Amino acid sequence: MTNNTDVLQNGALLPLVEDFYTIQGEGFHTGKPAYFIRLGGCDVGCAWCDAKYTWNPRLYPPTDIEVVVQRAVACDAQSIVITGGEPLLYPLAPLTERLKECGLKIFLETSGSHPFSGTFDWVCLSPKHKLPPLAEAYERAHELKVIIEREEDFEWAEENAAKVGEECLLYLQPEWSVSEQIMPKMVEYAKRHPKWSISIQSHKFMRIP
Ligand code: SF4
Repeated sequence: MTNNTDVLQNGALLPLVEDFYTIQGEGFHTGKPAYFIRLGGCDVGCAWCDAKYTWNPRLYPPTDIEVVVQRAVACDAQSIVITGGEPLLYPLAPLTERLKECGLKIFLETSGSHPFSGTFDWVCLSPKHKLPPLAEAYERAHELKVIIEREEDFEWAEENAAKVGEECLLYLQPEWSVSEQIMPKMVEYAKRHPKWSISIQSHKFMRIP
């Protein structure tokens, strides 16, 4: 379910859930300060999603991207993380162009299940069983982050790893609610298959958003 693109004036307005300056907790950029822009709307439907409140974009008013850009440049952030929900539901070129004009690096977090728009310095692709990535998402990924809920997900991780480019970094990340049970298996898997690194949701340990 998305807001109508006419309503959103082709990306001049976006359904903003929240924006805030914090520390990136996951994947390659873990530990680095970043300004997060979270957009509402997702049609993937992961059972364990920790952002279900974002799924219905109509709960979030179309927001002028200039308002968000001004808030981002008003703090010391050097990089922006565009996340959701699924941000590729929307035309992102206007937002990314404005952020680039301000000299900011732009990172995208996506399931890759919708066509790309906008320009990004880093793409973190997190594929989901329910709505797998489009072919172009694999080509664009700098980082593949596969959520591991059960042992069968290692096979899913390998299927996805076979589709990304050679330079793409590979991460396994435990699904938060089962992380204690699955982590020992992930550690053993990564030791046996060292092309994989382990990512944890460190922001949850830091108690930050
Ligand atoms: S793709 Fe992301 S936001 Fe959408 S349901 Fe899955 S975990 Fe939640």
